[in-house]
Amino acid sequence: MKKYDYLIIGAGSAGCNIAYYLKQCGKKVAIVDKEGIAKGASGAAGAFLSPLPGKKNPYNTLVNSALAFSLDFYEKLIPQAIQKKGVLRVANDNFDKEKLQTNSDASFYDNKKLKNISLNFKYDIDGFFYENAAVLTPKEVCEKLLNGCDFYIKDVQELIFKNGFYIIDDLISTNIILTQGTIKPLVPMPYIDISPIYGVKIDVKTTTKVPFNIHKSISISTNKNDGTVAIGATKQRHDMQNMQCLTTCDKCAFYVNSDEMQIKELLTSANELIELENLEVVNIYKGARATIKSYFPTIGRVVNFDESLKKYPSIKNGTKIPPNLLEYFPNLYIINALGSRGFVLAPYLAKMLGEHILNAAPIPQEISTQKLFYKAARKS
Ligand SMILES: Cc1cc2nc3c(=O)[nH]c(=O)nc-3n(C[C@H](O)[C@H](O)[C@H](O)COP(=O)(O)OP(=O)(O)OC[C@H]3O[C@@H](n4cnc5c(N)ncnc54)[C@H](O)[C@@H]3O)c2cc1C
Repeated sequence: MKKYDYLIIGAGSAGCNIAYYLKQCGKKVAIVDKEGIAKGASGAAGAFLSPLPGKKNPYNTLVNSALAFSLDFYEKLIPQAIQKKGVLRVANDNFDKEKLQTNSDASFYDNKKLKNISLNFKYDIDGFFYENAAVLTPKEVCEKLLNGCDFYIKDVQELIFKNGFYIIDDLISTNIILTQGTIKPLVPMPYIDISPIYGVKIDVKTTTKVPFNIHKSISISTNKNDGTVAIGATKQRHDMQNMQCLTTCDKCAFYVNSDEMQIKELLTSANELIELENLEVVNIYKGARATIKSYFPTIGRVVNFDESLKKYPSIKNGTKIPPNLLEYFPNLYIINALGSRGFVLAPYLAKMLGEHILNAAPIPQEISTQKLFYKAARKS
């Protein structure tokens, strides 16, 4: 039996970041994943890091604070895996010119001004240019975060808690952190209603030099270290009541026989922005990101919904019971629902959760598990 302080289930951006944080704090950490490192949404991610403009609100404030932290974090951790060359955002229906300018330090770049950034830029587009933006190679980042951490391939089916320890086959741990993305959680959490949103990314070889990242309804990256360009989009909501469709599900139309059509769609949209010459598609990745309705991620201790309601049935009628009196699964934590900003948010949230676990630092209410619990309990 191997014994750990923390065992993390799910080796995506969330799991790898919390593993890194706890390891840096001197804890004995292991991480397991049924498929490998960065094989879920994290492997499929375009992994763009960019500001979220628009009228200031709690969500874009969270994202923009996380961005400042994470850019610095990745640059120190693994400078070779991050290309910080800014992003040109071209207006679309969701982000018109006014919104792109609001609450941001972006400036408008017409075609002539874009040529000042890159003399070779010959494409007829314009938009707002944000300097504080980058693209990552997600797998390389996740692997780096797990340096020196024990990693096991395991499909965990249940959590067994006995005499103060969780036991998963031959691994024993005092604490568990669930970072499962869209996969059905290992304990019931009816208050965290996650929908998977599916997306595709392709890596292409091209002789075109793309001087910065470009976002419209799709995202095109600058050339990465190996010269390839990533093109990605996430927009396909899955019509399923329950999340039974796993990322490698061979019955799902999204994953079967649809590559050609999806590549074509991405390339058509990319071509409307910039012509990528001598193009060859070298990889296609598909994945589902976990999102909840409010768009906020959620972190913290895992509330035991049934036991909390059994103890305080009047919560349903709005009686305020302080979070510390709720019932929790022992030593069980979660980071999930990172939405479309998983690589922006994960380092920042991992630090927050780590400080909460180790030093009892408070978690902001809007991202706490308790907030979702109270809301669902009142509805139940
Ligand atoms: C196409 C696409 C493009 C994206 N682009 C961007 C972007 O540009 N910028 C950005 O910041 N974010 C982007 N995202 C979002 C980002 O990828 C996600 O928010 C982030 O990767 C979520 O990380 P995670 O660790 O929560 O989940 P995941 O990466 O899905 O990891 C969860 C892991 O848990 C494992 N697991 C679950 N249950 C078990 C179990 N019982 N036993 C063992 N293993 C288990 C799964 O195998 C999986 O590997 C994109 C997402 C997609 C799909």
